[in-house]
Amino acid sequence: MLEVQSVSKSFDGFRAVDDVSFSVARGSIVGLIGPNGAGKTTTFNLIAGTLTPSAGSVRIDGRAVEHEPAHRRIAAGLARTFQIPKPFGEMSVLENVLVAAQDQAGERIAPNLFARGAVRRREKANIERARDIVAFVDLGKVERLPAKSLSGGQRKLLELARVLMAKPKLILLDEPAAGVNPALLETIMERIETINADGVTFLIIEHNMDLVGRLCGEVIVMAEGRVLGRGAPSEMARDPRVIEAYLGG
Ligand code: ADP
Repeated sequence: MLEVQSVSKSFDGFRAVDDVSFSVARGSIVGLIGPNGAGKTTTFNLIAGTLTPSAGSVRIDGRAVEHEPAHRRIAAGLARTFQIPKPFGEMSVLENVLVAAQDQAGERIAPNLFARGAVRRREKANIERARDIVAFVDLGKVERLPAKSLSGGQRKLLELARVLMAKPKLILLDEPAAGVNPALLETIMERIETINADGVTFLIIEHNMDLVGRLCGEVIVMAEGRVLGRGAPSEMARDPRVIEAYLGG
């Protein structure tokens, strides 16, 4: 589903990502771990198209995308979430999800969508879909509330909902467990499992080893811009090079 080959990215001569190669098999959930500054977020940005690599190639579902802008990569089936979600705070939870569909289709955002008398059929279908997805991530009870009233964990669920509107094949999750209370973390993990069971592939940056141990069949460990190793989470946690990278970082 994803193939990153010999990708590098320098900032003013500093190699934040240095000749990184890895692949993510269709249908898998793979963790991307490593100490702060390892190059994980930069790698995500290179995959998503927020950054252009200095060298190397990125393939999503067999399609070379390293020269394509971010929105084309979304069309290729890619979606991503951010470590710190930034929903439209004044808009309702449901509207935030609805707008995600329109953003991703590159459409104009219709003003006062809900106030209009005659809602077109496709918009109606989108609203139904958004409502189903909002219910799926357990935000049905708060769908009319402004997004700014949500807790940190609920915002992560809202991000997941927004991403699902695009019907992605590959989802990049940036620290889904960060700032989330244990009850909501359980919901987040269950939803990721359900989405994955539907055939969606995940690459997840995460420091929470409970989540990584439960969801990720394999982890890729990065340190100082390079891939240090790859394997089962328990195996990597015992690897002396990995332990040293964390202690050194
Ligand atoms: P991680 O996500 O693993 O914590 P990052 O990818 O955020 O690591 O950062 C890797 C390195 O690249 C860090 O040393 C960081 O300071 C540097 N870096 C990241 N983005 C930029 C940028 N836009 N300009 C300069 N340096 C950057």
